[in-house]
Amino acid sequence: MAKITQTWSIICKVRDSFSSLLPLFFSCGLVLLVARFLAPDTIMGVSSSSSSNIAMVAALKKNNILTSTVAAEAMKQIDRADFVLPDTPAYVDSPQPIGHGATISAPHMHGYCLSLLSDYLKPGSAVLDVGSGSGYLTAVFALMVGENGRAVGVEHIPELVERSIQSIKKGNAAHLLETGRLSVHASDGKLGYPDAAPYDAIHVGAAAAVVPDALVSQLKPGGRMVIPVGQFMQDLIVIDKKSDGSLKQHSEMGVRYVPLV
Ligand code: SAH
Repeated sequence: MAKITQTWSIICKVRDSFSSLLPLFFSCGLVLLVARFLAPDTIMGVSSSSSSNIAMVAALKKNNILTSTVAAEAMKQIDRADFVLPDTPAYVDSPQPIGHGATISAPHMHGYCLSLLSDYLKPGSAVLDVGSGSGYLTAVFALMVGENGRAVGVEHIPELVERSIQSIKKGNAAHLLETGRLSVHASDGKLGYPDAAPYDAIHVGAAAAVVPDALVSQLKPGGRMVIPVGQFMQDLIVIDKKSDGSLKQHSEMGVRYVPLV
């Protein structure tokens, strides 16, 4: 009987300490959930964190985020580690700070946007990357459109433009910088980049309050723009310009990006 009482008292102690920890577990879970949601350039979803660039691309494919083989091959050629700050985990599936209050978007956001745009990033196509930040996606785009294409990055923080150019020079898109097929410019992305317009594909890496008119007019008939739109709650909007110039758009998913200022 004494043994039963002793066992029961141990069970009660374990139960009581567990229930006193419950609010802590709950609040930690809530904090993690809120932190994940508030993290810029992200959506809620399966994590594709990895330990190498190749493994990261494989995880994005396995998780059905990266559905384009051509985009996957280009991502393999551009090492994300060249575009993050020193001592920053390059292949973790979350945005990472790149200085000046900006972030490189999470690998899953790069994967989704590349999948949405890959049909418009053929060899010879022209592509505009607004809010090019680290320059990672601009470099991937440039490899996809190749020697006869044109990839333009526009970023409003001059230090990031300089840093992105140095990052691109480290890798497999360096030759496209030399030939001028890839360029990055310090200017207001809301105005696009008229000198190389019109574009087959426009990617915007920061959330616009409304879709800038200049970007719509610089999109080729038959082209596609992917742009996060909204303030706190944002949608990743896909805009297709038909051959007659009319627009068709839909929301692909809810997202959380830094603002296009
Ligand atoms: N695709 C980039 C995203 C960087 S975050 C990457 O993965 O590296 C968004 C970027 O948009 C920031 O670098 C920010 O400085 C830039 N940005 C915000 N408003 C801008 C504007 N009006 N014109 C150009 N760049 C802008």
